[in-house]
Amino acid sequence: MEEIQCCHCGGFFPRCPRHKEQYYCMKPACRRARKAAWKKQKMRKDPEYQLNQKLSNRKWAEANPGYWKAYRKRNPQKTERNRILQTIRNRRRSKKGETDAKAESPLIAKVDTSASNRIKVAGQFWMVPVIAKGDAVRVYIYEIPTPYQ
Ligand SMILES: [Zn+2]
Repeated sequence: MEEIQCCHCGGFFPRCPRHKEQYYCMKPACRRARKAAWKKQKMRKDPEYQLNQKLSNRKWAEANPGYWKAYRKRNPQKTERNRILQTIRNRRRSKKGETDAKAESPLIAKVDTSASNRIKVAGQFWMVPVIAKGDAVRVYIYEIPTPYQ
């Protein structure tokens, strides 16, 4: 049987004849790496998936208050790494902002000062046709802040 090299751990494993596009072996760490790579690519290419993940993460964070504060306390190295990466992203964004004339928007997503950040998604719903045949349509309901009403 033909063996192929895993693109995560570098080990060799037998190719499954049913999965021609297999690049990762079945070790748990490699399966996690494959899923992470898939998710990263999906987040970059699919805006609907990106919004769903954002909503889902927000919902989870609301259901688990204090988790991220405790996480940062438990993992100071990761917190420091994130601060450095965020600084780099802010610098890149501010360079872009100079050309886009969007320099006044907040650099970190957490800062809720711009008008667009104040419009919050209240939830997502599916409109399912009952009588006529058709596809279900996903609908997002937004809370509109008082100055806009
Ligand atoms: Zn592997």
